[in-house]
Amino acid sequence: MKDAWPPPTGRDFIPCCVPYWDMQRFLAAGGIYDKARGYHVLPDVFLDDFEEWLPRKFQFRGDPPVPVLLPDMLPSTVWEANLRHLLSDAEWDRLRKFCYAAAGNTCVSCGSRGEPHIEAHEAWRFDEKTGVQSLRGILALCPTCHKAKHLGYANRIGVLPAVLNRLKWLNDWDDVKLKDELARVAERQEELSQRTWTLDLSFLKTYGVR
Ligand SMILES: [Zn+2]
Repeated sequence: MKDAWPPPTGRDFIPCCVPYWDMQRFLAAGGIYDKARGYHVLPDVFLDDFEEWLPRKFQFRGDPPVPVLLPDMLPSTVWEANLRHLLSDAEWDRLRKFCYAAAGNTCVSCGSRGEPHIEAHEAWRFDEKTGVQSLRGILALCPTCHKAKHLGYANRIGVLPAVLNRLKWLNDWDDVKLKDELARVAERQEELSQRTWTLDLSFLKTYGVR
């Protein structure tokens, strides 16, 4: 897989996730737009003023920093359940396009940008007490960051190394930490795959889906 992000050498700008309805406010705050880079700020600005538009990699993440993106794998017992099959095409299209627009067509995790290179990731929570799988949000992610959430799939299509590199860069992890996290994901996936799950899509009401 072509993996042009992050740029191999230093960075001279920080991409921002600016929805079109925030454009004027972003520019008034001192943000910049040009065609080649899209919405961005220069690395020497006071980033606090732009926090709401920064991809997670560039937000303040505490000390020690919290991870930007945790790897994941869906339980094998829910592989068939995804929104694009549960909703009508028109509804799914409306939802995902809203999410892309809200993120300014920029990956909310790493900051790489541009349709058709942004995808909609369904974030689920699995409650082992109740056996309920509930939708918690829909995130605009680039293909590489998205595959970190579907490691089994990334492995099957042969792009796992690029995805693991991305995770290390995003989270400031070394090889030891990465290995620990992958072991945690595999263990959790096996645990969750022991049972079937009841879907809770009530979150979609916040997007106006009945
Ligand atoms: Zn990304």
